[in-house]
Amino acid sequence: MRLLFIAPPGAGKGTQSALITEKYGIPAVSSGNLLRAAIDKQTELGKIAEKYIHDGNYVPDEVIINLIEEELQNPVCSERGFILDGFPRTLYQALTLDKTLIARNMQLDAVLILYVPKTELINRLAQRRTCYNCGSTFHMTFNPPTVEGICDNCGSELHHRKDDRPGSIKNRIRLYNQETMPIIEYYSKMGIVHRVEGLGDINDVFAKIEKKLDKIK
Ligand SMILES: [Zn+2]
Repeated sequence: MRLLFIAPPGAGKGTQSALITEKYGIPAVSSGNLLRAAIDKQTELGKIAEKYIHDGNYVPDEVIINLIEEELQNPVCSERGFILDGFPRTLYQALTLDKTLIARNMQLDAVLILYVPKTELINRLAQRRTCYNCGSTFHMTFNPPTVEGICDNCGSELHHRKDDRPGSIKNRIRLYNQETMPIIEYYSKMGIVHRVEGLGDINDVFAKIEKKLDKIK
């Protein structure tokens, strides 16, 4: 199963993506993780990407698509499929991705979109605290750390990320809508878009996702 997973910031995509990976045995291919790994390993593409980031520029689409292309050659991805996360973000990227997939005799089976109302996203992110050391996140009401302000996993201090504050969140959501609307329209025409209501308990949301994916399998 080849999936593209799209959700606004704060919608719980990471959690749901991990559940999909676990249940269906398909790996998540996250452009952000691929980028970090390539830079860590200092691969050819990693060195190129690092230069852009070092100069304060965005890593060009071509570099990211090459990273993804490399990852898709991984036997797990070619045999079982994948969940794409973080890419494509623009229509141009979606078109480039499709060309790459077609060249490999592949195509996306489904585009999963998680919907969460804006007010709920703002509330969730306003209450989110992040550990900069291990990446764990906590929610002040629904998933508070045992000791206030301290990460349960590693004991480091927790932070309220600047871009998780209401003003920034509104901008991030606006940007998300602007960027993803054309992609969703594009994939809707192909008839592969599945919308899932992302409000509520983690397991309830996953049950809705399972319902959609079980039909595609
Ligand atoms: Zn931590």
